[in-house]
Amino acid sequence: MSIAAGTTRVTMTFDYEGSWGMPHDVPYDLTGTTGRLLELLDRHAARAVFFTVGQLAEQHPELVAEIYGRGHEVGLHGYAHEHMHRLPPHEVAVLRERLRAAAHAVREHTGDLPVGFRMPYLMGPDFYRPDLYAMLRADGYRWISNREIRQPEELFRPDRIGRGMQILDRPAVRGGLLLGLNVPLIVRERPTGGRRPLDGARWLLRRQQPFRRAEGLVEYPLTSPLDCDLLGYPRPAEPSAEADIDYAVQVLTSMYDRAAGHFTLNLHDWIIGTHRRIEVLDRVLAHITASGAAVFHLPGRAS
Ligand SMILES: [Zn+2]
Repeated sequence: MSIAAGTTRVTMTFDYEGSWGMPHDVPYDLTGTTGRLLELLDRHAARAVFFTVGQLAEQHPELVAEIYGRGHEVGLHGYAHEHMHRLPPHEVAVLRERLRAAAHAVREHTGDLPVGFRMPYLMGPDFYRPDLYAMLRADGYRWISNREIRQPEELFRPDRIGRGMQILDRPAVRGGLLLGLNVPLIVRERPTGGRRPLDGARWLLRRQQPFRRAEGLVEYPLTSPLDCDLLGYPRPAEPSAEADIDYAVQVLTSMYDRAAGHFTLNLHDWIIGTHRRIEVLDRVLAHITASGAAVFHLPGRAS
C-alpha cells in the first residue's frame, strides 16, 4: 500500500483473552473493561486489532460483534489460550478443528472470517513454527504477529536500572543493546530473506518492518514492549505505581517518535484496560494522534 511520506502506520493489538490468559484466579469484568477500552479508542478515533481467544468468541459473541461493529479487526489468539510451542501433531489436528469452529463463530457475528493470528505466549521461546504457520495459511489466515523483539528500554524499568534512559538517544548505545538482547533472533532468522548471517542484525537496526514468512503469512513483529513487559502482571483490581505508569508512557511515546514508518502497540485487555492503567493508553494515544502523522493500520481489514 502507498502511504504519504512522513506518516507512521500504527498497528495496535490487544490480546483479548480475559480470564483465559490472566494468570490470576480472580473475578474479572470482561464486559465492563471492553466497554471502557472501546470508548477510549473511539475518543481518539483509533482502530485496533483484537486477537480473541476462540472460546471467548464462542461464549461472548455480543462482545465480538460490538468490537467489529465499531470498526476494529477481530483476529484469533488460540482456542483456549493453549501453549502451541511443543504441541504434538495429534493435538495440532484437534486444535485446528477448534480454531475453525471459532473462526466460523466470528464470521457468524461479524460477517468476516478472521485473517490475523497471534499465538498465546507468542509461542516463545522460538516465536515461529513452520508447520503451524503453514496450517494457518492453508486455513485462510494472511498475517500473524508473533515475533517478539527485546527492546533496550525494558532495562530501564523502575525496578531494574530505573533512571538514565536518555542514554538510549545515542544510536550506538541503543543499537548495541538491541543487538545484544536479540542474539537468538539474529542467529536463527533471516527476516529479509537475505543469505548473509547478519541479515537479522541489519533488519533490527533498520527498525523491524513487517516481512513475509516462507509459508506466505506476513509477520508483523512486536516493535515495542508489551504492556506486561512494562507493567508486569497485575491483578485487575490492583493499582500500578505512579512511577510504573509514567515509565510505560515514556517508553511507548519515545519509541513511537523513533519509529520509522511502522509501529506496533501490544496490549492485554485485563492489564491496560483495568484500574488506572487505562491512563497509559489514553496518554500514549493522545501523543500519537497529536503527532498528526499516525495512520491506524489494520492489516486484515480495509479501513
Ligand atoms: Zn494471551
